[in-house]
This record gives sequence, C-alpha cells and structure tokens, in this order.
Amino acid sequence: MNGEPLLRINRLSKHFHLGRGQTLKAVHDVSFTVRQGETLGMVGESGCGKSTAGRTILRLYEPTDGEAWYGGTNIYRLKPRQLKAFRREMQMIFQDPYASLNPRMTIMDIIGEALDIHRLADSRSARRHRVGELLHMVGLNPDHATRYPHEFSGGQRQRIGIARALAVDPKFIICDEPISALDVSIQAQVVNLLKDLQKRLGLTYLFIAHDLSMVKHISDRVAVMYLGQIVELADSGTLYAEPLHPYTRALMSAIPVPDPDIEAGKERIVLSGELPSPLNPPSGCPFRTRCPHAAAVCAERKPALREAKPGHDVACHLV
Ligand code: SF4
Repeated sequence: MNGEPLLRINRLSKHFHLGRGQTLKAVHDVSFTVRQGETLGMVGESGCGKSTAGRTILRLYEPTDGEAWYGGTNIYRLKPRQLKAFRREMQMIFQDPYASLNPRMTIMDIIGEALDIHRLADSRSARRHRVGELLHMVGLNPDHATRYPHEFSGGQRQRIGIARALAVDPKFIICDEPISALDVSIQAQVVNLLKDLQKRLGLTYLFIAHDLSMVKHISDRVAVMYLGQIVELADSGTLYAEPLHPYTRALMSAIPVPDPDIEAGKERIVLSGELPSPLNPPSGCPFRTRCPHAAAVCAERKPALREAKPGHDVACHLV
C-alpha cells in the first residue's frame, strides 16, 4: 500500500424519487478515499446505503450529486465508450453468487464472456487457457470449466464470481457483501482468498458488509454507515480498540468474544427502536432516535464528519 488515494469520493449523494413527492435519500453527502492497495471496509445495517454507494461509484446507478475520482478520472464525466473501457479498471463481486451467475451458461462461458466483451482473448484456445488460469488462481479445478453453476457449492460459486471479476485484470474491486450468504466455515476461506489475491495482484478493495466482525480481518480502515451517511471512519486497529461514535460502540458490543470470561464481563449496548426509514429520516443527527446519549442539540443540528483524532473521523456532537 503506498498511501496514495486511488479513489476519491466527494460529497456523493444518490436519491431515488418515488413519486408523490417522496424522496429516498439512500446515500447522502458522503466523502471518503480508498488508498492504493488498501481495503476499506464499509459497514452498516441493511438499508443504510452501503450497497447503493458501491453501485453508484461504478455507475450502475447514476449519482444525484457529487464526484467520484479514480486517479485523475472523474467517473461521472465519462462518456459511454470511455465508461466501457473504464469498467476494466473497476469490477464488482456480488453477494449472491448463484443469482449473479447465468444458470444456463458453463463456467467457461461465464468467465469467457468478460474476456469477449473487452476482446482480451484472440483465439478459442487463448480464451480456454485464460479461463483455466483464472480458475486455478481462485482455487478451482480448471477441468471443471465445462460445468454449470448448480454443480458447485456456495463457496465455489463465489470463487467463480471472483474469477469472472479478475478476468479483465481490474485494479479496484468493490466486494458487495461477498461472504454474507456463505456458511461461517466458508467465509474465512473466501476472505483469505481475497487477501491472497490482493497481495499477488496489487488489488484495492472496497469491502461492504453488514457486520463489523466480517470486515475485521480484511480491512485496513473501516467506514461505518448509518442512514445513508458515514458516522465514523478510522483505521481498523483504532476503530476496534477505541470506537468513538455511539452507533459503532453498539455494533462493537454485539461482536461475540471467544474468551468466555471477557464475554461474560462485557457491556452489551442494545439499541432501542428500529432503523428509521430513509424516506423520513430524523432531524439533526440521523442516529438520535436510537442514541443513548442524545441531547437537545442532536435534534437541532446535524453533526459533520470531522477529525476527532489524527486519521479518526466521527460525526457526533458529543465526541
Ligand atoms: Fe448521539 Fe447526539 Fe452523537 Fe448523534 S450527535 S450520536 S444523537 S450524541
């Protein structure tokens, strides 16, 4: 990791207009960077906007406002032909590998399709060779390339999804809950594979997950999202040792500790109430309806995300 930002997101918003004057602010005024070679974990409950943020960065959704810079390229200014070329740089791995793989195509064709779109194999044998190489890279048997997705387990299907993303030699991968649908025993294997590929290929990841324990072993830094906004961002070690935002502290207290003595003495912060609807977010601080420390000021003014300590950003009036 050389510390230079590869991706800079500046005041990104994605709102969905639902008719009858209703607007869903799925992502609102979000700024962050992802440095070359690092993994930025992005965590929050379902509906907090993290997946929408990932898809908007890739322009699978068009943004409502804001900028996304990849190196010196403003992603939102790219014309359709430039966007197609750019898609080689940035790929996505999806949560549900089964739904994202065409059940009527063989693995050879699923992975080969990406090579065809970008004209990366000039003969059938070059295509076959490259697909075999990619399957080997993700720990699958190249001889199984003629099989169909249903012939593989969930973990193997996610490996196929990873091979498909790698086919175009990307530098940046958005991993959208890639382990959430997998058995716990398989999750660690997929995380280890992603870490290994990152080291070998010099990849940069935005790793989206709904719980802090899932991003712990892969992230260099972690951003915590709540109702479409980032409420805390810090390097992993600091965030796990010293979470500052009341929401992060509550998420952290829910992670089980393997030592029974520590687990028994641990304070568990239970959040009251449900995640408010992004159609009708609270005034002021978005977390105030569930925050055990909410004060009058929290209903009046929205706290800005600001540096509370070097490299540790928090959006809370009381920190
Ligand atoms: Fe809680 Fe207020 Fe901080 Fe929001 S600003 S997290 S409501 S203390």
